[in-house]
Amino acid sequence: MNNLSAHAVTAYIGLGSNLESPVAQIKSARLAINALDNVKELAFSSLYASTPMGPQDQPDYVNAVMAVETGLPPLDLLHALQAIELEHGRVRGVQRWGARTLDLDLLLYGDHQIESPELIVPHKGIAERAFVLYPLSECVSDLVVPGFGRLSDLVTNCPLAGLRRLNEYESAS
Ligand code: ATP
Ligand code: CA
Ligand code: CA
Repeated sequence: MNNLSAHAVTAYIGLGSNLESPVAQIKSARLAINALDNVKELAFSSLYASTPMGPQDQPDYVNAVMAVETGLPPLDLLHALQAIELEHGRVRGVQRWGARTLDLDLLLYGDHQIESPELIVPHKGIAERAFVLYPLSECVSDLVVPGFGRLSDLVTNCPLAGLRRLNEYESAS
C-alpha cells in the first residue's frame, strides 16, 4: 500500500513454491505483499522453474523475485512475510529444504547487513543460487550485495544449474 514512512528502503524478496499450483501461489503472494501497509512494489521478475535443492524426490520449484519499497523495519517485514507463508498453507516440516506451498526469503534490505538469530541479511544463500540471482538481476540493473560484491559478477559466476524462465503459457497457468 502507498502508506510509506519517511525512512523507506528498497528490499528484495525471493518467492518460491513447489506445491498446490505453484504459479498461482506466487501470484497470490505478490498480491498479499502488495496489500501490506508500508510496502509498495517496485518490480517483479519473470517466473522461473528450478530443480529442488536438498531432497530430490519433490516437484520442481517456481521462483521469482520482487523489489519493494518499504518503511517496515526488517524484522517486521520478515514477520509479515512469514504470516503470508502461513496464509498460503506453509507447513514447517522436519526436512530441510522440503516441499512447500510458499517460501518467502528476505534477500536484501537496502544495504543493511543483519545477523540476528531470526534474520540474516543478505540472505545467506544469495551468492550461489541461480534461482535468486537471475530473477534478482531482472529487477535491478546492478547493485552491490553487501559482503558479496557486485550482483553482475555474482550472476556471471553462477551456473544456471537447470534454471529456466517460464514461457507465457506456463506463467499464465
Ligand atoms: P534457506 O533459508 O536456506 O533458503 P528455507 O527457506 O527452507 O532455507 P525456512 O525453513 O523457510 O528456510 O526458514 C528457516 C529460518 O530462517 C526462519 O525461521 C527465519 O527465522 C530464518 N531466516 C534467517 N534469515 C532469513 C531471511 N533473510 N529470510 C527469511 N528467513 C530467514
Ligand atoms: Ca528459501
Ligand atoms: Ca525461507
